[in-house]
Amino acid sequence: MLYRNYSEYLQKKYKEKVYRIPINVPVSCPNRDGEVGYSGCTFCGESGAGFESLSNAISVEDQLEKNIEYIGKKYNSSKFIAYFQNYTNTYLPFDEFESMIMKSLRDDVVGISVSTRPDSVNDRHLEYLSRIQETYQKDISIELGLQTVNYRTLMKINRGHTLAEFIDAVNRIRKYDFEIVAHVILDLPYDDMDDVIETAKIISALGINSVKIHSLYIVKETEMARQYTDGEIKIGTVDDYVKRTATFLAYLSKDIVIQRLVGRAPEEDTLFCNYGMSWWKIKEEIEKYMEDNGLYQGIHCDYLNGKAVRKFL
Ligand code: SF4
Repeated sequence: MLYRNYSEYLQKKYKEKVYRIPINVPVSCPNRDGEVGYSGCTFCGESGAGFESLSNAISVEDQLEKNIEYIGKKYNSSKFIAYFQNYTNTYLPFDEFESMIMKSLRDDVVGISVSTRPDSVNDRHLEYLSRIQETYQKDISIELGLQTVNYRTLMKINRGHTLAEFIDAVNRIRKYDFEIVAHVILDLPYDDMDDVIETAKIISALGINSVKIHSLYIVKETEMARQYTDGEIKIGTVDDYVKRTATFLAYLSKDIVIQRLVGRAPEEDTLFCNYGMSWWKIKEEIEKYMEDNGLYQGIHCDYLNGKAVRKFL
């Protein structure tokens, strides 16, 4: 096995195929409305990350109903994860957050996944989600955008937080029986291979449960689109992305589940996406590179638990 695959993980856990149902709610982001910043992350477009979601004008219940009807029939599945995907889903007045979660509770929803920023998770959210987990027997996962552990890069892409907030959020979430998912972009223009390796090491050291790996895409009308057009940033080659991703996996703990190897975005919304290739072709190239070079997830994860004293034990 080259890496720990998410769909196989879900199949094993729930004894059948489980699909995530994206839900788009009318939330904003503190990095856009002025709480943390006004312009957002330099790569983030107006629609956030929710290219696959229905309109946020549709109620949570109706989005779930429509998508479950469609996906359930298409894949013959009967268990789903309600996935609050877009923007910062904890950046809401608390009663609205509670109501959003309550609306997602259905018998066929086995888990709830909440995507947010590391600086937007509070103990109160976590205590509430823990009560939901206990009362309704739903698995809870929290998805945190990290992108890179290089805090200078985080400043350059205007994340509005650095590594410290991510570590704080992980330490808080860890107190509960929740899964933690980290999002990373492995080909950020300011990062090199050392940053990629350090990102894998820190994610492993923190005991994150799953990782979603993205390639960088340049969304139209973003600050990064301007930088790209003006030649201020350069994007590497697909070979570089393949090598970075394979190396990232090699340094990552074998216990971490890989939810995605390549990002996806509609062509019409982007100036650059996946090196002009389909995501599955890049995925195949990553797998081939790993096979050709004798790599698999965790092969270089030998740095935890007091490596230097191992010879004495
Ligand atoms: S934190 Fe997320 S939603 Fe907010 S600006 Fe950055 S990428 Fe966009």
